[in-house]
Amino acid sequence: GIKLKKLNAVTETCSDYTTSPHSIRVFQWNILSQALGKENDNFCQCPEEALDWNHRKYLIVEEIIEYCPDIICLQEVDHFNYLKHVLGTQGYTGMFFPKPDSPCFYIDGNNGPDGCAIFYRTDKFELLQAETRILEIWRIQSNQVALLMNLKVKQTGQELCVMTTHLKARHSALMATLRNEQGKDLLQFLKRHCADRPVILSGDFNAEPIEPVYSTVCQADLTSAYKECVASEPPYTTWKIRQEGEVCHTIDYIFYSKNLLEVESVLEFPTEKDIGEGRVPNLSYPSDHFSMACDFRLRTNNGDTA
Ligand code: NDP
Ligand code: CA
Repeated sequence: GIKLKKLNAVTETCSDYTTSPHSIRVFQWNILSQALGKENDNFCQCPEEALDWNHRKYLIVEEIIEYCPDIICLQEVDHFNYLKHVLGTQGYTGMFFPKPDSPCFYIDGNNGPDGCAIFYRTDKFELLQAETRILEIWRIQSNQVALLMNLKVKQTGQELCVMTTHLKARHSALMATLRNEQGKDLLQFLKRHCADRPVILSGDFNAEPIEPVYSTVCQADLTSAYKECVASEPPYTTWKIRQEGEVCHTIDYIFYSKNLLEVESVLEFPTEKDIGEGRVPNLSYPSDHFSMACDFRLRTNNGDTA
């Protein structure tokens, strides 16, 4: 397997930790909706306790704050108020945008719809603008969403545009086509709001790198951070065993504007041995997706990095 560069872990609490105004640490994670994970996914090697919210809720927050990211992009969030409260104590604030007809609604005891969320450090950024989008396929609203924020680095005045999404799941040629249409809509939406700011677009695209939507994103002057940093996409971003079988593939990405940002390092993934035979989720890993993170440096106008 490929070796990824490890990010520096942070020993202070996030609110005590200061980061350079020229660098931006982005964290991306499909945290696995509590309602879907418990009732919908059918993870068949997963111990029941591992899917208990009272067990998962600490692991999720621990994993997010371990690296004190500047920006946190999440999918399958169905406990936004909990995250907002806990991350609030660590110096973050954020926004949530739910899926219009979330599959969580159909599950007994659900905690509301799942959706996308973005959090940012309030000491580092000022929010200039937030926009939400129900993604359209052939001009018809789908059940997938995107959330966008234009942020200003308080210390330098430098602005950037952050967007996150969770595209349509399921494996078939038709679904790949639908994801590509969602990708095109996403990019149009992005173009309307990002102006000339550097862009960070992260999410669960539910698409391997060979799918059309991956090329569609790359054609819009965006590059995948992991691919750029370590020469190839990671071998997996999700690894689970359902009744139907084992699924191990790369479908989550952090894309960025290559001409305006430079990627310095990316977070390593757990190895097959770390993960264990039952794959994830398990008692140590609360989601079936792995968290991703990378350090970006803002390039200055002459193309150099500050
Ligand atoms: P998606 O196909 O995008 O998937 C929804 C969720 O299911 C995702 O979070 C996805 O996770 C997860 N998922 C993917 N593959 C599997 C799998 N093999 N087994 C279990 N879960 C999986 O769904 P939509 O957002 O389009 O919503 C589904 C639709 O279901 C909704 O429109 C809702 O109206 C509809 N529905 C459900 C009913 C019910 O009773 N369950 C009744 C009527 C409608 P990931 O992205 O991580 O792969
Ligand atoms: Ca899922």
